[in-house]
Amino acid sequence: MSCSTISVRAIPAVGRVLRALGEVDLPQSVVVTVVRRELNRLRRRVVACDVADGKLVAEATFEAITERVRISLGDLQRSRLRPVINGTGILIHTNLGRTPLCASAVTALAEVAAHYSNLELDLTSGERGGRAEYLELLLAQLCGAEAAMVVNNCAAALVLILRHFTAGERKEVVISRGELIQIGGGFRIPEILESSGARLREVGTTNRTTVEDYSQAMGQGTALLLRVHRSNFFMRGFVESPSTEALAALTLRRRVPLVEDLGSGVVMDLEELGLPEREPTPASVLKRGVDLVCFSGDKFLCGPQAGIIVGRAKRIAALKREPFFRALRCDKLAIAALQATVEEHLRSDAGDLRLPLFERLRSPEGALRARAEALMVGLVDVAIEIRVGQGSAQVGGGTLPAVTIPSVRIELLPRAVRLGEFADRLRRASPAVLGFIAGGRLNLDLRTVFPEQDSELLRAIRNAAG
Ligand SMILES: *Cc1c(COP(=O)(O)O)cnc(C)c1O
Repeated sequence: MSCSTISVRAIPAVGRVLRALGEVDLPQSVVVTVVRRELNRLRRRVVACDVADGKLVAEATFEAITERVRISLGDLQRSRLRPVINGTGILIHTNLGRTPLCASAVTALAEVAAHYSNLELDLTSGERGGRAEYLELLLAQLCGAEAAMVVNNCAAALVLILRHFTAGERKEVVISRGELIQIGGGFRIPEILESSGARLREVGTTNRTTVEDYSQAMGQGTALLLRVHRSNFFMRGFVESPSTEALAALTLRRRVPLVEDLGSGVVMDLEELGLPEREPTPASVLKRGVDLVCFSGDKFLCGPQAGIIVGRAKRIAALKREPFFRALRCDKLAIAALQATVEEHLRSDAGDLRLPLFERLRSPEGALRARAEALMVGLVDVAIEIRVGQGSAQVGGGTLPAVTIPSVRIELLPRAVRLGEFADRLRRASPAVLGFIAGGRLNLDLRTVFPEQDSELLRAIRNAAG
């Protein structure tokens, strides 16, 4: 093996590659970095002479180099944060940004983002004001709570609570073995607990924990009793856990706070939405005697990423005094969007909430079917076989795992491209289209596609199938 036919001098200059690329919709310095990286990689390979001569010569042609740079730039452009069309049928999709915001939240976001705001100024007195005071009032109202506060996300809420209550002599957090759960990627309750300086005191078994189990485990070292809602899975069969009322009575007697992590933050009556499920709401849990409840802002609440803590005024005030709270506080954009979202909840009943998630949930199957048929008509001249099928959407985002929502999907089988290639092309389109492969076809569930995206969806399918 010899590398005699190619030398480092044959590698083109950065400027020549840049000229060949023409206009690229990325900052110029980023493009230059990508070109340099590609040329350096080639230079190292030439010096090391690590592949057969002929192959290296082929890779070192000007055309091959510019093509590789173009591919890298395309990957980079696609990795910019941007909207995608969700045809997965999963309504709260963590990888796709959980829930879209409602129109009033988007307006509030844009207005506050583009201007100065009264973030920490009391406009009545002209004095310095508290951040998010109005939002806290709204959240307390929504949850029937004495007080509320917001932090960066529900994980942060839990960390703040754990650190606060385990800062003193008492370090133990009592929790049922049935609730030592993992939520999404990398969020495990035992790890969060230990990283907060708390000591885990497990009680009961995976499927059964009684009040006596809790009671026997509590002692001088107990800092708090934590309940974690099993939001992303369900257990059936020989299962027992104490009522919230019983635990509230126990913790009241022992003078230990009772905290519940509800996660999904269902604040409305799910039956009004036609969902056959009952989820504890923050209001119902507080009424049963829990001291503090935390939940996510961007799951069922449909707001921006945030963690909400509601409960006893004295406890909330103490949490807000924690120096660590400063590191977890929300920015003005999250506050603006959450404020508008909570106002929307307070203005409407569950049945007519103008929140995108609920509008998608409410869309009748007939309407979805009509859209599917219109898409079919729009694709008659394309080399693709298309069927309208029964879909089953899911809430997702680690909430209501047992619920499936009747839906309609289009099932696509391109004639001119392989299925995997077709799926790749759709995902790499602009806007990107995400579906799922099942039954040898690419399926797009229309429950999670907004009707106003149908024309873009049609265009993407046409292009990808060609
Ligand atoms: C989703 C979830 C969390 C994490 O919420 P983030 O807002 O994503 O940090 C915590 N606890 C429970 C029970 C959850 O379902």
